[in-house]
Amino acid sequence: MLATISSATLLGIDGCAISVEVHVGDGLPGLSVVGLPDASVREARDRVRAAVQSSGFDWPRRKITVNLAPSGVPKTGAGLDLAIAIGVLVAGGELEPQEVENIAFIGELGLNGALRPVPGALPLTAATTACHVVVPEGNAAEAALVSDRTVSTAIDLRELVSVLHGNEPWARIVDEFTPLRQKPLVDFAHVQGQAAARRAAEIAAAGGHHILMVGPPGAGKTMIAKALPGLLPQLDGAEALEVTTVHSAAGIRLPAGGLVRMPPFRAPHHTSSMVSLIGGGTRSLRPGEISCAHGGVLFLDELGEFPAQVLDSLRQPLEEGVVRVARAYGTATFPARFILVGATNPCPCGEATPDRRSCRCTDAALARYMRRLSGPLLDRFDLRVHVRRPLAEELFATDLAEATSEVAKRVAVAREIAAARGVASNVAIAADNADVLAPLSREARKILVRAVEEGRLSARGVHRTRCVGRTVADLQEHEGELSGRHVATALALRAQTVDYAAAV
Ligand SMILES: [Zn+2]
Repeated sequence: MLATISSATLLGIDGCAISVEVHVGDGLPGLSVVGLPDASVREARDRVRAAVQSSGFDWPRRKITVNLAPSGVPKTGAGLDLAIAIGVLVAGGELEPQEVENIAFIGELGLNGALRPVPGALPLTAATTACHVVVPEGNAAEAALVSDRTVSTAIDLRELVSVLHGNEPWARIVDEFTPLRQKPLVDFAHVQGQAAARRAAEIAAAGGHHILMVGPPGAGKTMIAKALPGLLPQLDGAEALEVTTVHSAAGIRLPAGGLVRMPPFRAPHHTSSMVSLIGGGTRSLRPGEISCAHGGVLFLDELGEFPAQVLDSLRQPLEEGVVRVARAYGTATFPARFILVGATNPCPCGEATPDRRSCRCTDAALARYMRRLSGPLLDRFDLRVHVRRPLAEELFATDLAEATSEVAKRVAVAREIAAARGVASNVAIAADNADVLAPLSREARKILVRAVEEGRLSARGVHRTRCVGRTVADLQEHEGELSGRHVATALALRAQTVDYAAAV
């Protein structure tokens, strides 16, 4: 007897519809899986048999062949367990074929028959060909984001079969979840003092500019970085769904309601592997940290400690907003548009200030440290700001600084102004469009010319400074030509260099 059950597998961040064909026939009792299964899919044999038996159903004592079609697509993970089990129950005569007609099944099975959540339920559900999809309870919220599917859940195999027989109703039909407003990790109100860094963070949020913070340990760099996503507008519509899809595929725990609304904050450690940062993998294509940061903030603390190869590989995504990874089973393109926030100590001992008063590093050590930080990546940071340790009176101040909600309002206005000009954010203003979108006043032009003549600014730097100047103007709701002040502010934020070794 043959049964065909629909399900799906994950390829990168996309789901791919899979037909699980189960044949029960004559031959030596046993179960074999064909159709490019990976190790975890092959292990389904044992999980499925244990789950079926402990749920009180008969396991056919005949030859069972499971074919996963199309055979050219690699199948990964345990998400096909449930479909295989249902297929065996249909082919073995426990369920009638019409009882599972037009229903797709996604989920891992425990040995006791429990349905367990799997990564990627959102793209998996979207990929299924059936209009009714059964998923584990833990995946229900994200699966329900696929608007044209009916999503149902069950606790375990026994309950599911009973429902399919029509003995009990679908217990937990998931309707729509109301997306909640999600809170930032850190409220800006708790970033005391730090006027310059606060201003730079606001500009970064408004224009999507990358920001580098230089300062001693304990100065609050991480806190400012964590506050940044809260300053950005909450994700909406297609963007929220895109970010949720990436997080779902990466197996990141989704917020209540399923939909990711708060721009993500990802802070990979400098010892993380290239694959975990950039994405890929030998067997399955997984999105990396830079894709998980899509739509939000990628925070690289101790920037100088990241291997040069990793920092180099960031250049293409920073340029294009996507990352291409190629592995054994082909290439994949993952979204990767984020605000890059870097943080570093000013020197190996951490105490250097522009006048180098309390720094204990040797000149040679300092110069070596600077070389690691220099190069093309440093050039991507349009905002470079020195973060000092807060003063005692700031730490013990009783009144809080301006809160996230207030700053976010200004950021939202600035972003609307930019959007009205037809750019997603000012960081994306093209060089050949700058004269239209960020025209310069005479004074602004003079300031830039002087900076170039004095060797402080490259051609690329001129354009980046204009983009930041545009954001500074937008935050003041100033349309039209950039004034000298706007450009001077942008230039000052760029020129706050980390190069204390210049004096060496
Ligand atoms: Zn030092």
